[in-house]
Amino acid sequence: MSSDATRRAPLVAILSGAGISTDSGIPDYRGPQGLWRRDPEAEKLVTYAYYMNDPDVRRRSWLMRRDSEALRARPNAAHDAVTRLERSGVPVRVITQNVDGLHQLAGMPDRKVLELHGTARVVQCTRCQARSEMAEALARVAAGESDPACLACGGILKSATVMFGQGLDPVVLGEAVAVTKACEIFVAVGTSLQVQPAASLAGLAAEHGARLIIVNAEPTPYDPLAAELIREPIGTALPALLDRIAAEV
Ligand code: ZN
Repeated sequence: MSSDATRRAPLVAILSGAGISTDSGIPDYRGPQGLWRRDPEAEKLVTYAYYMNDPDVRRRSWLMRRDSEALRARPNAAHDAVTRLERSGVPVRVITQNVDGLHQLAGMPDRKVLELHGTARVVQCTRCQARSEMAEALARVAAGESDPACLACGGILKSATVMFGQGLDPVVLGEAVAVTKACEIFVAVGTSLQVQPAASLAGLAAEHGARLIIVNAEPTPYDPLAAELIREPIGTALPALLDRIAAEV
């Protein structure tokens, strides 16, 4: 605890990648060694140009989402630890490469989670941009629609995720950069730090004077910049680390 009650606790930024959700049963889909990258046919289903131009790709993409367990996944101890840190009064911002929405399901306020790759819990019309629940679109697929169109304008619906071949939302990325520059502690957890521009945030944080802590089983390109490297399993290591940070600040 700070001895000066008027001093604001330092901002903690947490960059989370696929590794934080593996204990929730969600495999790494989009990382360099992820399922999609290892299967060219699966990769097509989440590649923007194929998706937009080929109704059969869309049909198979909807079936893949229908059959996925990801929407039924529950947060795990690591997501809970992030929420606990935030509720302890420490200013926390999550920057996530995940599209599973598990930080919010664990209780993080929406506005404190920056989803670099969007969210798979929402669908967005590619013409009028209207957004609705993925669960509603999947209910239409289950009822027999092979490629459900936007109910407002008839446009092509797609998951509100950043597909391969699409750029990141510049507003979300800009906020992530601002948080990265402002934070005093930057924790990269469950990410191989190989997918840009997300990975470069770790370097940016260190450059701007943050204490960089990397929690990942495998080495990352940013390890030399880290003040602390933690190789232990995320489900126990992250709660221990964040409890230590809460006690420090
Ligand atoms: Zn529309």
